[in-house]
Order: sequence, then structure tokens, then C-alpha cells
Amino acid sequence: MKLIKQFCSFVGKEIDIKQASLINIIRSEIAEKGAISFPRFWHQALLHEKFGYYMKQDVFNKDGDFVTSVEISQMFNELIGIWLLNTFQHIGVLDNNFRPTNQKMHILEFGPGLGTLSSNVLRVFAQFNLLENIQYSYVEYSDYMRKKQQEAVLKQLQKSNIYPKYEYNNQKVEKFESAEVNLKWFKMYEHFLYEETREGQHCDPVLILAHEFFDALPVNIFEYSGGQWCEKLVGLDQDGKTLKFILSNGPNQNVQKILNPDKYFSPEIKKLIKEGDTIEISPQSGVIANSLAELIAKVGGAALIIDYGEKRAFSDSIRAIQRHKLMDKNDILNKPGDCDLSAYVNFMALEQAALKVEGIKVPELMTQGNWLEQMGIQARLQILCKNANKATEKRLQSEYERLVHSNQMGSNFKFMCIHRTKNNNLFPFIQDAQQIYY
Ligand code: SAH
Repeated sequence: MKLIKQFCSFVGKEIDIKQASLINIIRSEIAEKGAISFPRFWHQALLHEKFGYYMKQDVFNKDGDFVTSVEISQMFNELIGIWLLNTFQHIGVLDNNFRPTNQKMHILEFGPGLGTLSSNVLRVFAQFNLLENIQYSYVEYSDYMRKKQQEAVLKQLQKSNIYPKYEYNNQKVEKFESAEVNLKWFKMYEHFLYEETREGQHCDPVLILAHEFFDALPVNIFEYSGGQWCEKLVGLDQDGKTLKFILSNGPNQNVQKILNPDKYFSPEIKKLIKEGDTIEISPQSGVIANSLAELIAKVGGAALIIDYGEKRAFSDSIRAIQRHKLMDKNDILNKPGDCDLSAYVNFMALEQAALKVEGIKVPELMTQGNWLEQMGIQARLQILCKNANKATEKRLQSEYERLVHSNQMGSNFKFMCIHRTKNNNLFPFIQDAQQIYY
């Protein structure tokens, strides 16, 4: 009956078969249940099993839709590799001479994209003869991306004559193992937690990487309308086809549960709120940041979260990118699966969520430019340039500028660290360090 009803609702309308499905699936859902929350739309657009943006295509680099720092330059990834080694030593997983102890070097990476960061990190570890005793865990929702990551990582390990064998796949975790390394791909962070930290399971300290992961997590949008907070939902226009934002009829459950305006806004801010003001909140980001802090407090380690954003909430930061171009705001809802969706990261919310956990410290946020300079990007650039021809030297120099200069990616992107209070001052996050802007 339901199927017939759905089919009838489309009779007489022309359906573009090529872009069919995802938008039609969303339309049907709305027709059946009423307007959906923006995070529900977001999940379908990026991660729908068949048609989701990350589930079916190469989205990175020249032929894709966007480029990230890890794809721009090996220098970026190498310095993260060095940070990992340095931090492993600082927390006692490597000894004073950077030699392994009896603890595993456990790295957990969220949303590894093409696997480039991870491959470069493993290359750095190989250069220091440290490709043993590594456990590298990955959280990746997309089967398509997971395959790409596995190809890249296994290719890198082959260069060191390491051939991890496919161990098993039970939908939630895929494992590759060798005498030296142990690689595990988890579809969701919950699966990682279940597998690695359940009762009786031993988990060594873990260093966590999240590069442009949090900006891919959905936000709820709330709007102040008619003297009350409402949620911006995704509904259908009168034509029954076009998706558009509509406001909930007054404060819905999410207004109370997620925004909770009475608590969220201070009395001074409340006085300034006016008709049409909006605010974005990502509950999933808070939950993950809090859980990472709990994990670190329990097993030791630290998290390095890198993304564009600031220490504040945003009102209108959602972006849809296709073929390196920002899409018109009105198109955001009508190209699900064909463009990337992202929102600026509210580092204040991540910090507050992490600091709810006892024994956790979050030092001052650093800009990407500052972090890379402190980690020695100029020295690395000089060494690479020494052995390079003129064309390569020029390329390296422009990569450096793109990553570090403030009019490029140097100040929009931030580095955030979460660590245990007892591992004070994790380099280069020195709390009262002067922030240098380039
Ligand atoms: N870190 C990479 C990729 C960033 S794009 C880089 O900087 O180049 C975001 C990545 O996160 C993709 O690999 C995407 O498939 C994955 N992803 C997006 N949402 C996710 C979710 N909810 N859970 C797990 N992985 C997700």
C-alpha cells in the first residue's frame, strides 16, 4: 500500500533518472513523515548507503570537488607524523631515545579521506625505523573511501616489505594484520569503542587525529521567530518537488533538547536576540569530543583536531562545494549526494564538551600557520628544496605559502589539542605561547 502511494505521488511528474534516487528518496521521506531535521537530510546527502556523496565517488583533488591540506603537501603530513612521535615519547610510549617500550603505538584517525595522511605518517615512522608495534585504527563510514584508504596504506607498507593480511570483516570492523602492524577500519566510532575498550580489553594510550572530520558532521539550525526559538527543517515546496527550509511550528523537541535557550544564552545575550537570528549546533561533535576526552582520561594519549572554525558558535556557516566552487545557498538542498556539505567548527563547543571530563586539559587553540611554523615547516622546506630542481622548489614554496599564510589556509584552520592534565604542555601547545599570525 505504502509503495503504491509513493509511486502515485510521482505519477505525472517527470523524474530525472540520472539524479533520481537520492532526492526522490528524501522527497518520499518528507511526503510520508513531514519535514525532516537538517541533520537527517545531511546524513542522507553525505552517507546514504548507495547515493551519499562520500559513498560513491572521488571527491578530492583536481578532478573532484575540493582539496585539503593533507592533499596539498607532504610537509603537512610529515609534521603531523613528527608530532605523533614526539607525543608518543612525551607520554612514555617511546623511550627517551625514541625506541619502543612495551606499549603499542596506537593511532586512531577519523575520516581518513584518501589515506594520504596515514600513508605519510607511516612513511615517517619507517624513516625512524619505528614500523613495529603499531596499531592504526581508522573510523570511516564509507565503504568506498575505506577501500581507497586501504589501497594507499597497504601500498605504503609494501615499500617497507610489510604485507598485512586481511583478517576479517564483520561489517563493523575490517582488520589487516602482520607481525609489525595491526590495521583496523571501523565504520563508526561506537564500533571502535565497543571493540577496543569493552570490559576486559586492554587499550594502550591512543593518539587521535581528526583532519577536516568535524566539519563534515551535521548541525541543527535554530531560528528566532515570533519571539521564540524554532528549528529550521527540510520540507517540500508547494510543487511537491523542490526541497526548502521551513520553520518548525514553534519550539519543537530539539529546541529544548539541543539548544535549550534558557540555559544556552546568558541574560545579556538574551537581550540582544532579535527576529530572524539563527544559530547552528552540532550535537554529534559535542558527543564525540566528550567521548574522546573520556577515552584519553582512561587510557592516556591525546587528540589533535584540525579544522576550519573558531571558538564560537556560527549562525550561517553551512557550505556546499561542487567542483571547487561554492554553491548558491538555494541549491544546497536540491543537489543531495552531488556536493560536499560542511559547517564551520565551533571549537568552544568541542572544548567545553572535552573539559566536562576530569583530568583533561585543552590548551589554547593554535592557527595552522603558527602550528606548522612551531613544528619546523621552514626547516623541512629548506631540506626538501636543497635536493629539488627549480620547478619542484617553486611548487614546494607555493605549497608552504598555501598552508601557512594567513590570507590562504594559515589562520582559518585551527589546531586543537585534548590531553591529560598530567601530560602538561604537549609541544607545540604551550598555553600562554604568543599567537603569531602570518
Ligand atoms: N581527512 C581527510 C578527509 C576529509 S573529508 C582529508 O583531510 O583529506 C571527510 C572524511 O570523513 C571522508 O573520508 C568521509 O568519508 C568521512 N566521513 C564523513 N562523515 C563521517 C561520519 N559521520 N563517520 C565516519 N566518517 C565520516
